[in-house]
Amino acid sequence: DALNQSVSELRNINVSFEFFPPRTEQMEKTLWKSVERLAPLKPKFMSVTYGANSGERDRTHDIVKQIHHETGVTTAPHLTCVDASADELRAIAKDYWDNGIRRIVALRGDLPQGMGKPEMYAVDLVRLLKDVADFDVTVAAYPEVHPEAPNSQFDLLNLRKKAEAGASTAITQFFFDAEVFLRFRDRAAAAGIDLEIIPGILPVTNYQTLVRFAGMTNVHVPDWLHKQFSGLDDDDQTTRNLLGANIAMDMVKVLAKEGVRDFHFYTLNRSELSYAICHMLGQRAS
Ligand code: FAD
Repeated sequence: DALNQSVSELRNINVSFEFFPPRTEQMEKTLWKSVERLAPLKPKFMSVTYGANSGERDRTHDIVKQIHHETGVTTAPHLTCVDASADELRAIAKDYWDNGIRRIVALRGDLPQGMGKPEMYAVDLVRLLKDVADFDVTVAAYPEVHPEAPNSQFDLLNLRKKAEAGASTAITQFFFDAEVFLRFRDRAAAAGIDLEIIPGILPVTNYQTLVRFAGMTNVHVPDWLHKQFSGLDDDDQTTRNLLGANIAMDMVKVLAKEGVRDFHFYTLNRSELSYAICHMLGQRAS
């Protein structure tokens, strides 16, 4: 009750939504329906991913421009540096700037199989972007440590370098234990990291996919989550959505109570769960 009470008194909540470029016409319809549904919640920004090594950066660019044009919401492309030269990246950044894009999510991208040490890390991309223009740069952070990092301290120092290079915010990898985020936030503050760290919230609707993805990204899937979803593989999607929303809401309530005011939603191009969670947080369409 105390938790619900404190959530109902929340002020100054900021939300943001992440989408990915659709691959089919059907998926494209779903994306636009979701954008139209979520934009009236006045998110701080919406972002569009770019699959490193996919060669489809233009699609990210087109969708970013279209979302920005149609909704007026600040829209940020994700940009990876693992698959482009510094000259190419400078040209892309300049083009974004010339098209009115002021915010970029700067990432290294996953290394292709067999690739040795990359020429650029995300920190180098942050520097390059800031060199081209005064972008508002967001980077990635890993409460449970990035899989390639030798240890958590190294990874935290990498985040500090990204802040020192000019990033202003970081979005975290998704997680399921609010404590994991809160401890990470404390460690970052203790390390003098001057960044706003935004929790990345993944409302789960497909447990099997989640488990696969979590395995690749070093995210711990707690036993209780497994128990919640077990036996529902063939069940109605509505059941799973209700469960996913409930789990995410519980986590978001704890974070809000601990002073978190910014939330980033991995929408997977669906609006239902993110919309419901935002509503619970007091966000209203206008
Ligand atoms: P970095 O910050 O460069 O870190 C990568 C690893 O290298 C870490 O383990 C770090 O500790 C280590 N490291 C850093 N510097 C050095 C060094 N000098 N020597 C040795 N090791 C070093 N991927 C996509 O392809 N497209 C997307 O749109 C996308 N969006 C994402 C959004 C968010 C919010 C998050 C959390 C991830 C996203 N990713 C995306 C995934 C991301 O590209 C991968 O996690 C990638 O492996 C690391 O990217 P990074 O920007 O965190 O890299």
